[in-house]
Amino acid sequence: MNVERGVSLARFTTLGTGGPARFFARPETLQELEQALAFAESEGVGVAVVGLGSNMLAADEGVDRLVLKLGGDLAGVAIEEERVLAGGGATNAVILHRVRAAGLGGFEFACASPGTIGGGVWMNAGAYGGEVAQVLDRALVVTASGSDWLTPEHLGLTYRHSNLEHGRVVARVELRLRRRPLDEIKETITAMQQRRKAAQPTNKRTFGSVFKNPEHELTAGRMLEACGLKGHRVGGAQISPVHANFIENADGARSADAIALMNEARRRAWEQFGVELRHEVELLELPELPPLP
Ligand SMILES: Cc1cc2nc3c(=O)[nH]c(=O)nc-3n(C[C@H](O)[C@H](O)[C@H](O)COP(=O)(O)OP(=O)(O)OC[C@H]3O[C@@H](n4cnc5c(N)ncnc54)[C@H](O)[C@@H]3O)c2cc1C
Repeated sequence: MNVERGVSLARFTTLGTGGPARFFARPETLQELEQALAFAESEGVGVAVVGLGSNMLAADEGVDRLVLKLGGDLAGVAIEEERVLAGGGATNAVILHRVRAAGLGGFEFACASPGTIGGGVWMNAGAYGGEVAQVLDRALVVTASGSDWLTPEHLGLTYRHSNLEHGRVVARVELRLRRRPLDEIKETITAMQQRRKAAQPTNKRTFGSVFKNPEHELTAGRMLEACGLKGHRVGGAQISPVHANFIENADGARSADAIALMNEARRRAWEQFGVELRHEVELLELPELPPLP
């Protein structure tokens, strides 16, 4: 299996930021994935997977790991009656296209997030009342020391959270959907997409929600809007003028710019509402955000 060096992660993240990966490989089969994990172990480096990079901020200085991008068989989709068998690298868009054509409902919520199903399992992605945990039967998680089929309970799927760690790769998933008339599926997707378009910056480079919604009457977006942060800019990144829980790449942003905005947003939400916002986006080789006083 071919291992590349110094591949820029900015090419693989939706915000378009991130430095080079020390090693980069694109396994297409379980065997190649196992070889890649063995390679990382022999080099003594950690592993991270990049899906669609739609929920990831990677260090500008680069990532001292083997970064994997699943392809081929590990990004394929097959449908057997009401079961969907997909590779961890399959995008939500492709899965949705296939299940819609097969008249299967239950995955419509995924039209809102542009990631892969592996990334969706990692953070139990969801929207509009749906989430991965509701449709996932089991996921094949591969590590350097073996593999296991895990249920949502074993994966610890809760609100935008799983107990996965880097080095545990979601190689395959099995989803269970249900028959639904095609016109109903289309109607649901259209309605969700219209809601998205009305409320979020859909034509800018972002990484989706920056912070998880806190236990508070205001969502993170409303809270940051009330802090006057819409349009606030650091370097090439700005808090979206459309939705304050989004950060846009306005012009040549770096991950460090986005982090500076996140720190400012957390400070202001703490001062104004006494709420400690927790980030939803995955920070790859970036220091944890400093604690609030
Ligand atoms: C415009 C926009 C709207 C969005 N809306 C939503 C939304 O409504 N709801 C929502 O939940 N999210 C939303 N997101 C965020 C994002 O799309 C989801 O979190 C998505 O599930 C991330 O998948 P990904 O493949 O892009 O993961 P990445 O960003 O590539 O990775 C995220 C994490 O998952 C890990 N990972 C990825 N693939 C695997 C794998 N195969 N095995 C193990 N670990 C893996 C990565 O290492 C990383 O830690 C949005 C993003 C954008 C840009």
